[in-house]
Formats: sequence, C-alpha cells, structure tokens
Amino acid sequence: MSMQPFLDAIQSGASGDEIANLPIPESYRAAHVLRSEQTMWDGVASEDKDPRKSLHIGEVPTPELAPDEVYLAVMASSINFNTVWTSIFEPLPTFGFLDRLGRESKWGARHAQDFHVVGSDASGVVVRVGSAVRNWKPGDRVVLHCNHVDDQDPSAHNDSMLAANQRIWGFETNYGGLAELSVVKANQLMPKPSHLTWEESAVTGLCGSTSYRMLVGDHAGRMKQGDSVFIWGATGGIGAYATQLVLNGGGVPVGVVSSESRVKLLQAMGCENVIDRREENYRFWADEHTQDEGEWRRLGKKVRSLIGDDPDIVFEHPGRQTMGASVFITKRGGTIVTCAATSGYMIEYDNRHLWMKLKSIVSSHFANYQEAWEMNRLIDRGVIQPVMSEVFPLDQTGEAALKVHRNQGEGKLAVLCLSPEAGMGVSDAEKRDRIGEDRITLYQRHARGEL
Ligand code: NAP
Repeated sequence: MSMQPFLDAIQSGASGDEIANLPIPESYRAAHVLRSEQTMWDGVASEDKDPRKSLHIGEVPTPELAPDEVYLAVMASSINFNTVWTSIFEPLPTFGFLDRLGRESKWGARHAQDFHVVGSDASGVVVRVGSAVRNWKPGDRVVLHCNHVDDQDPSAHNDSMLAANQRIWGFETNYGGLAELSVVKANQLMPKPSHLTWEESAVTGLCGSTSYRMLVGDHAGRMKQGDSVFIWGATGGIGAYATQLVLNGGGVPVGVVSSESRVKLLQAMGCENVIDRREENYRFWADEHTQDEGEWRRLGKKVRSLIGDDPDIVFEHPGRQTMGASVFITKRGGTIVTCAATSGYMIEYDNRHLWMKLKSIVSSHFANYQEAWEMNRLIDRGVIQPVMSEVFPLDQTGEAALKVHRNQGEGKLAVLCLSPEAGMGVSDAEKRDRIGEDRITLYQRHARGEL
C-alpha cells in the first residue's frame, strides 16, 4: 500500500517532522467514478441505478499541492447523499463541475480529470502543508468541512457560502475524502474531537454543519429557545443532527421517520414527538399532478395533537413529495427552511397558504467555515453526538452508497480509508468516559439491535 509508511508513522506516534519527511506517493487508492461511464445509466430508473457498478476503487495520480492546501492522510470518511448523486450521475454528471473548475486557474486545472474522486467528509492527519499555510502543520489531527472557496474573491467575504466560486469539495471538486490521501484547502480544516474515533469524527462535517446553518446560524432558520421544529427524516444524515440541535437549543422537535425501529431510535435520542409516516400512510399526491390538501390537513392535525400548535420551523429536504405539506403545516409567520429535494426539485405548493399566513421559505446550503467550526465545537464538547451506525472498508464504498440510496442506513455510514479497523483514533479516553460511551454510540448500538 503506497500510503503504508504514513499509517505506520501515525500509529507509532511519529512526530510532525518525521511525518513531513516521508515521501508523498505518486498515486493513491481512491473511490472514483469515470467520465467514460457517465452515460452508463441512460434510460435506467433512479432506483435501479447501483453505485457498486459505477464507484471504482483504484489508484489515481497524486495532484501537485497548491500553496494554500495540505495533503491529508485520510483515516476515515463517510457516505453523503452527494456521493449517491455522483455515482448515479444525477441530476447530472459531476464532470461538468470539474471542467468548469479546470478552466478557472492553473490550480483549478488539476481537477479536470477523467476520474472523479468522491467524498465530502474526512478525518485524518496533515502530512504536508503548502507554502501559504499558517495555522496547520504536519502531524495535526483534523476533521474537514467541505466548503471550498477562493478567498481572494470579494464575494467570499460576507458569508463565504455566497462566494461566486463556492463549491462542495469532493462533489464539485476532485480529490475528495473517500480515499487514502486527499488535497484540501487549509481553510477547510478543524481540530478533530479528541474523544471520537477516526470514523465517528468523519461523519459530522457535512451533515452536522448543514443542519447547524439551517437551524442555528444567522443565515437561515434562526431557531430560538422554545421553537417547535418539524423535522423530516429525523434519524437521517442531516435530520439526526437537526433533532439534536433542537433539543440542545431548548426547542421542541417533532420528528418524522418511516419505521418502528426508527421511532425507537428517535425516542432514545430524547425526541418525544414522533410521527411514523409509513404507519400514517400520508398520500400528499393524489396522482402525479395533483396534491391532496386533505392529506396536508391530516398531517397538520397530527402535529397539533402532539404539540398543541403548528411548528415554528419546518426542516425541509425531501422536496417534491413533501413541500406542499411542509408549507401548509408551518405556523403563521413561521419558516420553511430547505436545503435539498431528494424526491424531486420541481416543487409545488399552494402559495395562498404562504402569503396569507406570512410564512417564509428560506434556502440554505452547507455552511461557512465559522458555522462549521461552531458545529465542530459542539461535537468536541460532547453536547452533539456523531450519528454513525455502521462502518465499511474503502473497498465497499459502493455497498455503503447503495444502502444510502435505498434509504436503508440509519444516520451516517462511515468508511475506513487508512484506518485498518474501527475504534482507533481516540486521544482522550477520559473525556470519552465523561461524555458517555452509550451516548456517543447510540446509533451503533441501535444498528446492532441493542436498543
Ligand atoms: P439520508 O441520510 O438518506 O436521510 C434522509 C431521510 O429523509 C431519509 O432517511 C428518510 O427518512 C427521509 N426521506 C427520504 N425521502 C423522503 C420522502 N419522499 N418523504 C419524506 N421523507 C423522506 O440523507 P441526508 O444525508 O439526510 O440528506 C437528505 C437530503 O439533503 C439529500 O437530498 C442530500 O443531498 C441533501 N443535503 C443537502 C445539503 C446541502 O448542503 N444543501 C447537505 C446535506 C444533505 P424516513 O424514511 O425515516 O422518513
């Protein structure tokens, strides 16, 4: 394995200088899709597309390091829904993003390849820093956030998510985290929470930060104490962090899930108001073109029966299937905050319910560095837990992505990159004990049938 010397050095506690002196390999193992296969699913229904066939694990050439970047030895990463989107080439192949970045600059040109290394989360160890990097050094144990911005552009300086060239690393850029090595900008790095394993700390960056901006940061839902928040997919990747943020922020979550087992998990998280959408069998769409307001009302009544009121905020991401209902059930003056459209992006809702009741639809997308940092701080303090249920080896990235594609995984699925086994990387065992093994591993225990 070409990255083996780095793994040996990390495991033996080598110094930063020793790590910095190891040669960077010319190629490394990575999960990637191929430009030559980007039309392989033409005519195939979404649900029949199998990421195991399009995600390849193999060697890719190591790119040169830009002055504001670091090489990271990736110990663990995770599957995000964007890994699914890339692997099924929907809503469009990601090679167009790479080509656009490729035209931007000399350094951007490295990204326009016939392979796309995917993955927008990582935990690992810095092994080399570019000449302009100030705050990080070889040997630093880090986690990442995936907001990739060029901070020399003025548009990036009043909320970097508004930057003209803002991209999601590992989705709209190459050299993502599902690999043994990665190239990341120094302004994506954050300290790794010392009480977590490599894989636990690799599942918080993308989903946790997204939920933080949607609910807590200044730019979207701006939840306050006492707010009731209706959360679709409340044990899913972003939903499970949203549920915790609401509870931690003095709000009242109403969580929706689709199985008895997820109801149990949500209750174990401390969410008392739970709706099993499968049991309730909501049919918001009477047919492909017509929504059923009666079904929206039935959902609204259910929420009132649980919390005695309409929700102040609706945490929206399923999109087409649910948006009509989400707009309807939100409280007068309340907010629907949306970051996605898993079931379809051409949205329909009854605008009368929006304007007559002075509701707002607010968009949100990932998070800026500050927001990601604040979320990482909450995780480091042990008030928000990682929601990792299962761990896969890098070779089985496709299997893990298929599970997420089929809505069969709970919370987050982690992938071991260089880390040879699960359970490694904790550097403060006493802190872990203090926070509580049971709290940290709730999703893992649920996956093992122990709840
Ligand atoms: P996930 O782990 O698969 O969880 C999503 C959950 O939503 C599912 O577990 C499911 O829960 C629920 N759901 C799915 N389809 C639904 C439907 N038609 N109606 C009602 N509920 C439905 O995915 P995730 O990581 O949370 O991501 C969710 C979406 O957000 C994806 O589209 C992803 O691309 C997007 N996203 C966007 C950003 C951003 O920055 N803009 C960041 C992260 C994620 P139940 O079956 O239990 O109800």
